[in-house]
Amino acid sequence: MKPQIKSSAGNEPEPDSQEQDLIVSLLQENERLQDEINRQRERVDLFQSVFDCLPDALAIADKDRAIQVTNPGLSNIFGYGASELVGKKTAVLYESIKEYEKQGRARFNLSADDQLAPYQVQYRRKNGDVFTGETIGTPLRDRNGAVLGYLGTIRDVTDREQAHTALSESERLLALIASSLPGLVAYVDTDLVFRFVNSTAEQWYARPRDELIGRHCHDVIKADVAQALGPTLETVLAGKNVHERAIVSYPDGRTRSVERAYVPDIASDGTVKGFVSLVIDVAAQKDIEDELNAAKMRFSDAISAIPDGFAYYDKDDRLQIFNERYRQFYAKSADLMVLGATFEDIIRGGVARGQYEDAIGREEEWIENRLAAHQNPGGALEQPLDDGRWLRIEERKTLDGGTVGIRVDITEAKERELQLERLAVTDPLTGISNRRAFFDKIQREHEQVCRDQGVMSLLLIDVDHFKRINDTYGHAVGDQVLKQLAAIISGELRGQDAVCRYGGEEFAVYLSDTSMGGAYSTADRIRLAVERARFSFSKNNEPMTVSIGGSQCDHRDKRYEEALVRADRALYRAKNSGRNRVMIEPLAD
Ligand code: GH3
Ligand code: MG
Ligand code: MG
Repeated sequence: MKPQIKSSAGNEPEPDSQEQDLIVSLLQENERLQDEINRQRERVDLFQSVFDCLPDALAIADKDRAIQVTNPGLSNIFGYGASELVGKKTAVLYESIKEYEKQGRARFNLSADDQLAPYQVQYRRKNGDVFTGETIGTPLRDRNGAVLGYLGTIRDVTDREQAHTALSESERLLALIASSLPGLVAYVDTDLVFRFVNSTAEQWYARPRDELIGRHCHDVIKADVAQALGPTLETVLAGKNVHERAIVSYPDGRTRSVERAYVPDIASDGTVKGFVSLVIDVAAQKDIEDELNAAKMRFSDAISAIPDGFAYYDKDDRLQIFNERYRQFYAKSADLMVLGATFEDIIRGGVARGQYEDAIGREEEWIENRLAAHQNPGGALEQPLDDGRWLRIEERKTLDGGTVGIRVDITEAKERELQLERLAVTDPLTGISNRRAFFDKIQREHEQVCRDQGVMSLLLIDVDHFKRINDTYGHAVGDQVLKQLAAIISGELRGQDAVCRYGGEEFAVYLSDTSMGGAYSTADRIRLAVERARFSFSKNNEPMTVSIGGSQCDHRDKRYEEALVRADRALYRAKNSGRNRVMIEPLAD
């Protein structure tokens, strides 16, 4: 706008030329000033509209930090009305007075430097919410540099902060996970530049992380390795996973046998952004495998060296480990003992082939008992085999639910034990049962007879005039005669009958399931057999005879001894009525 210069008119005196010049120059000066004012106004308007447009909060405070000017951005961010803050100290904007004072010392004071670098401060909105504001705060100065007041711009960066915090937290976790992995982890972009490496990568590439990040792969890995890697990287960058084994020489000077996986990083639009490489040193794993194999060999050597049979069945009861000795013990079923065969199949096969002496005739029952003992091992088992050998079986459950079994050949010890048992029940001279064993047996048999309403008989046999033999031929010959008599008597009995040496030259016989009549005929058969026998002592075929007393025994006898008493009485009568005869005393009704 151009100011109108009023020209003089009317009755006013005409100015002289000097005056005129002055007026013109004043008018010109006035016009220039007016222009200047207008320009300044335009600038202020311009600034005002810039302030108004700014999305950031803007506040101008005076030297006492009292707010003079605010913009709509500030109202938006802090929630105050347009002029509500004017005249208030900027402390009203801060979360804490402490922070307000701290910023006062740092930048809002008369001797502060101009500072345009952004910094972050916690602010408080009118409604009390706190937020993070990225701030630029600096003194405002006049032409001469004197501080006029202060300017602050504040940008609410809460969202950005949270995103950043979340991102840095997930980056931190990722780095932690990657560092704890037992191998090299790296992220490489499509330009083959490292974007992420874990601590193993630092070691293998022999460079610190910050030297690796941003560096091209080919600057890091060896040239020949890079060349060999070419086709693999092409595949990965084409979006395909690669999994391979390789032997690679690394910058740290070590050559490793590695297993590596390359996983492309494919964006949602399908483009490949880079790839993750995961490389694991499998040499350590191989060492463990070697160590395991060596341990297995040692174990196998050890079990084949022991003199006992060893077998391990797994939790499914399948044969997994055994030595040769184990198979040798079971000659008839040895071919069934192969890895993976079940215990049940092996013993069933063995039973079918007559491997187990004590299973014959009661096969299913034997298998059932054997399986139960195998499944729940208790004490040691003794097992007779078909070839007369005896095994002691010790079985134990293992922690993994399997069963370990040891077989020890105890044939010799078992034979000695059986020998001792035999001796305990045998008469040493004649080899037939002794009294104690015999009476144990007939007691059991009598109980059974009582239960079954059955019948049995007992005989007592006494040699006639035996003293004469001793007197004539000597005691040793007498012994031989007793042995021979024992054999003759035994020879006349059935398997279910029994005989014992009852006294010096007396024998007792048990006849199973035999009544009085049967007892008589058996007794007489014995008598005859003795009478007819030829004895080695006798030069002129001198006969030997026996007298026999017998009795039937059944439930009517409370104790078998009652029958024995009757038999003894019958024997006495046989002796008294001429010897070499049989007398039976019936049971009184
Ligand atoms: P009998 O029975 O007919 O009346 O006449 P006996 O001569 O056989 O008389 P008795 O049965 O009483 O005699 C038993 C004899 O048997 C006494 C003893 O010398 C003899 N004797 C007993 N035990 C043994 C033995 O173990 N060996 C030998 N050689 N003789 C024995
Ligand atoms: Mg006698
Ligand atoms: Mg006698």
